Amino acid sequence: MIIGDIADGLTRGVETTINTVSEAFFEPVLRLGVTGLSRAGKTVFITSLVANLINRGRMPALRAAAEGRIRTAWLQPQPDDTVPRFDYETHLAAMTGAEPVWPESTRGISELRLSFRVQPTGLLAGVTGPKTLHLDIVDYPGEWLLDLGLLDKGYDDWSAEVLKRIEPRPEAAAFRETLAATDPAARLDEPDAKALAQAFTGYLQAARVSGYSDCTPGRFLLPGDMAGSPVLTFAPLPPASHPRGSLGREFARRFEAYKREIVRPFFRDHFARIDRQIVLVDVLGAIHSGPKAVEDLRQAMADILGAFRPGRNAFLTQLLLGKRVEKILFAATKADHLHNAQHAQLTAITEALLAEAKTRADFAGAQTAAMSIAALRATTEDRVEQGGRTLDVVRGTLMDGKRAAFYPGRLPEDPSRLLNPARQGADKWLDADYEVMSFAPQPVTLKPGDGPPHIRLDRAAEFLIGDRLR
Ligand code: GDP
Repeated sequence: MIIGDIADGLTRGVETTINTVSEAFFEPVLRLGVTGLSRAGKTVFITSLVANLINRGRMPALRAAAEGRIRTAWLQPQPDDTVPRFDYETHLAAMTGAEPVWPESTRGISELRLSFRVQPTGLLAGVTGPKTLHLDIVDYPGEWLLDLGLLDKGYDDWSAEVLKRIEPRPEAAAFRETLAATDPAARLDEPDAKALAQAFTGYLQAARVSGYSDCTPGRFLLPGDMAGSPVLTFAPLPPASHPRGSLGREFARRFEAYKREIVRPFFRDHFARIDRQIVLVDVLGAIHSGPKAVEDLRQAMADILGAFRPGRNAFLTQLLLGKRVEKILFAATKADHLHNAQHAQLTAITEALLAEAKTRADFAGAQTAAMSIAALRATTEDRVEQGGRTLDVVRGTLMDGKRAAFYPGRLPEDPSRLLNPARQGADKWLDADYEVMSFAPQPVTLKPGDGPPHIRLDRAAEFLIGDRLR
């Protein structure tokens, strides 16, 4: 074991003790992690969840809310001084009101504290007064979890894997060209290093747009305040032994620095402290992009969720010291693109897509569930007759302001009809095409006591935090 691991473990141990002591004597804190790949819907989810927990008129499936036991819920200054606060007010103002727009997406980690005064149930209900629960919501990119896989790898292994994977991809053409013109054994020249790193980042961005999910190192896509620093200025090179002072040697060193300075601190300071987790997945978006994107999403999710099975990784095992995430919810987002007649199919596909990853998490003792949700409902449901058939459609306003009725295609009852061709590397779906439209948020006038319209956000909240509001 390396010294860093021991030190990480000790810090974590002290922290656990402090938390336990403070929870016993003071007010309990529950940390809810919200993650998912970029554009999965994290920002919209947190904003709408918080708004709907403060104004609970649309939360009938959250039992404590339905039973009227939540006296009040309010935002507090968040406790972690070095983590940016989730910009709830700006995001909510964007999403609601007369001319709503989608808020700006997650770019890094942020946090928000929502506190509840709750009347307890059970034996003590009549005796004790209301109790307080602090819910710390931590928003972080799913791409950062993919980086866990890097900890077990040396630079050469990582490079070989990446270069093999991107070989057939047109998105990597420019990077391959820059790489071919580079001599890794030559003396390090910073402009060359930068050009190569930029070409690689360009590839990652293009791959992400094309629907690929295996886009590590995660910080290359979402660098935050690390942009341009040497730990983010490297790229994979064909494995070879390079002389001291060469580009190849320096890239190998920077790869190690990336793991030490970026990946490990994130897991130690943030990930290891999470109690409950929601993983948002844009399953519909991947289905729309085609079988390759679905297979890629399946693999990326298996990697992401590997982080919830600590036994797999020595560093994490040491860090967590037996602590585990108690509940994990996998949520297929943007379900308002589908009429509710098809939500069961979407959930079944999500479950099947995550089957492997889910078993791993179950194995770690976490309680898991899958659900189809829309954090902000942008459509209404309707039925239209077309060519003698009745279609279940949704209606909404497109981003260009036009109103449209939309039928995305019929999802199969049996998820393997999608997942098998995806695993077998099919180029396109055989029986059908699946469309996705970008709807703008609907203008809403919220009644006092109501949060923004959603689908199953209340059920998601009941699963994630309901037991702590009893
Ligand atoms: P993040 O990158 O995970 O923070 O993703 P965002 O929360 O910014 O969401 C990305 C985009 O997905 C948004 O700009 C919306 O276009 C879309 N989106 C997210 N949630 C919903 C939803 O509940 N319904 C619909 N129709 N679109 C959504």
